[in-house]
Amino acid sequence: MLDQIVIDRLASAPIAPQEHLINGVRVSAEQRLDVVSPIDGKVITSIADASTADVDRAVAAARAAYAKGTWSRSAPAFRKQVLQRLADLIEEHALELAVLGVRDNGTEISMAYKAEPLSAAGSFRYYAEAIDKIYDQIAPTSPDVLALIHREPLGVVGAIVPWNFPLMIGAWKIAPALAAGNCVVLKPAEIASLSLLRLGELALEAGLPPGVFNIVTGRGTTAGKALGLHMDVDALAFTGSGPVGRKLLEYSAQSNIKRVFLELGGKSPNVVFDDVADIDRAVKVSAAGIFRNSGQVCVAGSRLIVQEGIYDAFMEKLVAATGKMKVGNPLDLASDIGAVASADQLQKDLSFVETAQAEGGTVVTGGAQVNAESGGFYMAPTIVADVTPDMTLSREEVFGPVLAVTRFKTAEDAVRIANSTVYGLASAVWTSSLPTAHSMVRAINAGIVHVNTYGGSDMTVPLGGFKQSGFGRDKSLHALDKYTDLKTAWIDLK
Ligand code: NAD
Repeated sequence: MLDQIVIDRLASAPIAPQEHLINGVRVSAEQRLDVVSPIDGKVITSIADASTADVDRAVAAARAAYAKGTWSRSAPAFRKQVLQRLADLIEEHALELAVLGVRDNGTEISMAYKAEPLSAAGSFRYYAEAIDKIYDQIAPTSPDVLALIHREPLGVVGAIVPWNFPLMIGAWKIAPALAAGNCVVLKPAEIASLSLLRLGELALEAGLPPGVFNIVTGRGTTAGKALGLHMDVDALAFTGSGPVGRKLLEYSAQSNIKRVFLELGGKSPNVVFDDVADIDRAVKVSAAGIFRNSGQVCVAGSRLIVQEGIYDAFMEKLVAATGKMKVGNPLDLASDIGAVASADQLQKDLSFVETAQAEGGTVVTGGAQVNAESGGFYMAPTIVADVTPDMTLSREEVFGPVLAVTRFKTAEDAVRIANSTVYGLASAVWTSSLPTAHSMVRAINAGIVHVNTYGGSDMTVPLGGFKQSGFGRDKSLHALDKYTDLKTAWIDLK
């Protein structure tokens, strides 16, 4: 049970200026970036802004640690023990980590607590448990040969992550990469580095050898680019926007052809058929599926596609449910929706609403900044009706609390509209017909199709996109494929 008094106490603690974490020690940088809290727009601390030389230093530390072998060639049972200890420490410090993250990126604490430290601990535990249960293989060759198929770590893995769920998304990459025996250099988003830096300290406390997990903070255009272009980084795991994903593919081609895994954006369709069994539940879950964390969720159900027979009733209930969602200080347990992560993001969200109106959309609720007197960045949950598939709001990811609503007649229309974007990350279908549900699961081009819910998931299932939502999956045992290579040993027995 979260306690408001404890949250308030943690939230008032000063935050020391933050440095990189390289080879197990804090390393300062010449350049610095202010950290502005979206809660009130105030500067709460500063982080190091990495130069190319800082990134070189972190990669060199990771390479040296890899070559030393104390981690990369250790028994899986040892790695399991250390990563389990790290999961324990994350759980012990869960509220501290959650509050630190919320002060940095504005996610409402009720969501951040579960989705950030607790979920990150779950990732470390899952891959810790998995790693001593995966066997190599013997190939079915002729008897005069013994052919062994080994899985080996790749070496140095770079990870670049976004600001919306830094701990959770970071752990989806760091945990399987470390479990497989790699060494990691992480570059958090410049506006959400604090909780990941604390995670780095906890990793050392858990017994991770120095240099195995390094963190460089700073701008994407310098630190991220340097990591992407680095000749000694073997793989790059990225979550973020499409344009930056494209750049990382170019950097790979311009440097050492490092493998690149991209988890990019989405414009996920949430399709409601006339025969939805429980309209009230569908309304409640759909509202949460777009508006929690101010819509800054890669899998947010940002396109609501409703069949004409139920359209009016659904919209009436949805507007009422949205109006009841309280936007406010993300550290207040009473807030359903916290702050937008930055002033720039807020302006971007508002301009999407303006464009939608200019193109023929109708704002039925929200559409404006709220709580401006706090100095922070808050936006009312916004529903835009009369949106057609050719409109900007249907095609481009907002990454804010803005829902586009479109009406449909037949299941064929629903499929055409659902598949009409370049994205293919998540989706949902609400129906009481099993045949309709099955045919929609097959027809929708997306990495996830929810049926009669939105957003359900756990560590056992892969997460990632089709089409321009990227490639390479986070979570589940499949993620380990990204961080290991196959080696064949062909042994002549004649
Ligand atoms: P972003 O692409 O702007 O930044 C992501 C990271 O890339 C940051 O760490 C940033 O510093 C870095 N970066 C920026 N420019 C770079 C460059 N030239 N070279 C290397 N690195 C660079 O994304 P964001 O604004 O932080 O996050 C929002 C985006 O992330 C949205 O598009 C959202 O859909 C996506 N996202 C996807 C998932 C998923 O799992 N598919 C999850 C969360 C967020």
